[in-house]
Amino acid sequence: MLNILSVLTDLLSLGTGRRIQYVISKGGSEALLQALISAARTEPPDHSILLPLLRLLARVGQRDRKFGLKVQKAEATDVILSLTRQNLGHHLNLTPCLWVLRVCASNVTAGTTLGINGAMELLFKVITPYSKRHIRTVRAAIEALAALLKSKSNSRRAVNRGYLGGLLRLYQDWHQNDVSNNYIYIRRGLLLCLKHITNIQLGRETFLGSRGMEILFTSVQDCLSCKNLDPIVTTVTQILRKCYPKEPLPVVSVRSSYSFPLPGNVKTEPLCVGFEDDYESDGEEEVEKDLDKGDVESKEEDYDLETDVNKLRSRPVLDRPEEELGQYEAMCLELFHNFQELESESEEDKSLEDRTENLPSTPSHFIPSDNSVKHPNYRWRNQSVTEAGPDPGEKNFKVPLQTWTKKEKCRRDIIDEERDGIETVQNTGSCEKENPAKSHVFTLRPLPKEDAWYKKIFNPECEASTDPSSGERLETSDIVTNLLEEHQENIPFHNPHFYVARAKCIKSIPAYKDLAFPDFWGHQPPPCGKPVLERQYGVQRDKILDDVRRLIQPCDVIGRTVYDLDEPSHSSPGTPGCLTFFSKFESGNLRKAIQVREFEYDLIMNADVNSNQHHQWFYFEVRDMKLAVPYRFNIINCEKFNSQFNYGMQLVMYSVKEALLGRPHWLRAGHDICYYKNHYRCSAAAGGGMRGKYYYTLTFSIKFPHKDDVCYLAYHYPYTYSTMMAHLDSQEQNRNPKKVYWRKQTLCQTLGGNPCPLLTITAMPESKKSDDLEQFYNRPYIFLMARVHPGESNASWVMKGTLEFLVSSDPIADLLRKCFIFKIVPMLNPDGVINGNHRCSLSGDDLNRQWLKPNSQLHPTIYHTKGLLYYLRSIGRAPLVFCDYHGHSQKKNVFLYGCSIKETLWQAGCTVDTAVITEDVGYRTLPKILDKVAPAFVMNSCSFLVEKSRESTARVVVWQEMGVLRSYTMESTYCGCSHGLYKGLQLGTQELEEMGSKFCLALLILHLKSLPCSKKVMDQAALLLDLDEEITDRAQSLKTRFANERDGNDRSK
Ligand SMILES: [Zn+2]
Repeated sequence: MLNILSVLTDLLSLGTGRRIQYVISKGGSEALLQALISAARTEPPDHSILLPLLRLLARVGQRDRKFGLKVQKAEATDVILSLTRQNLGHHLNLTPCLWVLRVCASNVTAGTTLGINGAMELLFKVITPYSKRHIRTVRAAIEALAALLKSKSNSRRAVNRGYLGGLLRLYQDWHQNDVSNNYIYIRRGLLLCLKHITNIQLGRETFLGSRGMEILFTSVQDCLSCKNLDPIVTTVTQILRKCYPKEPLPVVSVRSSYSFPLPGNVKTEPLCVGFEDDYESDGEEEVEKDLDKGDVESKEEDYDLETDVNKLRSRPVLDRPEEELGQYEAMCLELFHNFQELESESEEDKSLEDRTENLPSTPSHFIPSDNSVKHPNYRWRNQSVTEAGPDPGEKNFKVPLQTWTKKEKCRRDIIDEERDGIETVQNTGSCEKENPAKSHVFTLRPLPKEDAWYKKIFNPECEASTDPSSGERLETSDIVTNLLEEHQENIPFHNPHFYVARAKCIKSIPAYKDLAFPDFWGHQPPPCGKPVLERQYGVQRDKILDDVRRLIQPCDVIGRTVYDLDEPSHSSPGTPGCLTFFSKFESGNLRKAIQVREFEYDLIMNADVNSNQHHQWFYFEVRDMKLAVPYRFNIINCEKFNSQFNYGMQLVMYSVKEALLGRPHWLRAGHDICYYKNHYRCSAAAGGGMRGKYYYTLTFSIKFPHKDDVCYLAYHYPYTYSTMMAHLDSQEQNRNPKKVYWRKQTLCQTLGGNPCPLLTITAMPESKKSDDLEQFYNRPYIFLMARVHPGESNASWVMKGTLEFLVSSDPIADLLRKCFIFKIVPMLNPDGVINGNHRCSLSGDDLNRQWLKPNSQLHPTIYHTKGLLYYLRSIGRAPLVFCDYHGHSQKKNVFLYGCSIKETLWQAGCTVDTAVITEDVGYRTLPKILDKVAPAFVMNSCSFLVEKSRESTARVVVWQEMGVLRSYTMESTYCGCSHGLYKGLQLGTQELEEMGSKFCLALLILHLKSLPCSKKVMDQAALLLDLDEEITDRAQSLKTRFANERDGNDRSK
């Protein structure tokens, strides 16, 4: 026996775990356990056999995942326990017993049995009182105890026997005596015991009652400077966080400060009964892991995949009476326009047009390859938008309506054809007249106070009138005039006059009276991109310990509310030594600000209107700052369990002073940024039926660039509804009406009474000749939309890039317009954007979950967009490409989601014979092209799986009900890129806009690759694009084909 054991020991102590696994697979554990039982029964026990047996068992047991179970089966727990008891005085024998005990306890049932039979009492005798003698044994006992405490019943028993206090005292002893840090593993082991005990409510309560917070918080202060002690600091931080008493958010109600009465009492927020705050188990550990290592690109869950083939198959259905579709004819007037007016053009005009027709002899654009894209000067912006302005004298162009008067007149009541946008804008009084109740003085936010620099900017005579310290508000027009006199408008496609005019007309729930400076003045992208922020070591734990300090040293905490949307009278703005906050302006979101310490503020975001959740978007003003002081801000009611803020993303900041000094930039800002679960909870009761849930803190520090500046902070580059409307006004004014067919209509009014614009963009027909008109009418449709989710402002910047490219004088844009008719809804959720929502509309619904059955009253923009798509399908003109622009908060890069039956079934591992299902793989072409032409786009991030939870999104419904093969969601990161040209950079508005323009370029290439093209188009494309071989080949073969056809035609004549 002894020999066999020694051979086994030799065998297993050498080599890899493979040998042990082999032994386990051959029933080794069971055999050893049997041997142990029989050896233990011999009187007196033979320790020469037992000792090597126990050692072997510990080694094998460690690798055997079912060891605990096998111990139970063999009924060996008692044997192990009594061996331990017998050897309490013999440390040499005791240690291997403890090892086996520990591996047994890795199985919770076995551990519980051991606990019931007195294992913890034994272990406690070994580890107390504090002593450095027999250190190996003590260590083994602590590790065994920690393993036992994983069982909740053991933890309960330990607390009831007073072990928690004993463990705390023991930890203190070790901490004080281990000055040279030789026993880190012992200290950590004790902390693990505490960590497991405090997994139960009773444990946390007892921990708090035993002053555990103070003891651990104080002790850990000595450990922070030594990197070797990280395991200790980490575990202490985990325990402190877990035990920090839970509190409700410091707000009157978690429900939004803003509410909106829904038409006809349609519904109230669904009540979901939730669990009370039972905090038994927690997911804390996942968040605790060092988050610096790579992304948590949350993989799509396979179980959510749609596997019902019938559901996946396209099934054209109508969700409304067919007669209703007739109204959308008025939104497709281009199909009925006969362009008689083209006749009246003079020869002079014709030659003007020809001028831009002159194509450069060498390609001015090329499709970048992986190498060529790195060329630093590669930007279409440089080449196009600025290069050729609109033709003067053509600004009065309107798309004539007379040819369609008869039909249109009867639609007038349904479709609110907007008058010429510029006219509306200049007639600034019109809105007030319409709704006198809403009439109010609209003011720009007061400007910074400090006189010295302010005087430098403004001329002396207006100084008196613009002194904001007088407390009087100035008419916006005065300030605007003064400002604009000093500063020439230099931001392309942004006109502050247009902005003010548009902003006055919006209908908001809080009835905004103030204009945020950045939206009015405009934003220009900074000259260079900013790298993803390097996370500094230990930021998160430092911040968390700082939070715990509030509990330990409460006298430190100021706790002064300095801003409160709900109870403005309760806040004390302008208190000396304290920042002033403001958020009541378009897209603003900040509900409350509490000064915690001199330079630290807790901030609370407002929930979406008529909702008690979706806190993510923030945008607010802050002033009265000191210079060169890092202010710490904590946004304490975030909801997502993780954030790109943990992976190098920064928020954005805009300084008014900087803007007036000629640097009007939203810049990435903030350092010491991290995101973690905090101690605030939302109970079911407080949430008004919302189930109890956790909150997370986004913390960041900011050093403001100037003293007493006015700065704006936001989650991402703001883009308001008024910005969009003013942008459309500028575009309308700047386009070349000879070339660009542009039509702006109102798709519908939103719930909040704001018009939702619909654009039609294509090229004017070459002439009114029937061939040209035919070509015009037959252009395939492209349907684009954006900003259904108001917090996804990145989507609007991408859309801005798309629109500017589409109406530009770039020859590629010109060609693209000749290929397609674009229908664009640039902002699907104006109300949400205006009122600072993150996700929903005024009804409290996520509009991108309403596509299956949109309600015409509650979801008008979705209802009518879908109606228009139905109409297009009904006349056989379903769009070639449908794309909905979004922003993504968890992933990097820009990518597409599409829909594929086969990929979904394969991924789900379905046994359905997929060979029977035929599927056009054309849905992959566009993303492949984008991967080549758009530096921010990454094909590998794309997915074409159809999930059940997404079946009511635009992408899936348009794919299924309209039968659009190329139906996509385009997701742009809030953060930056992990691949390609922008790898390691955070995206700026320039890169987002570029994405929008590259999307257009990709559409043109898609057209060339997959649609029949005229020779003319191919020739022009060949001149403009340095097309890859595939396309060039095709162009070549087309040329030959056309040549042949022409020859054939000639012959037949
Ligand atoms: Zn979205």
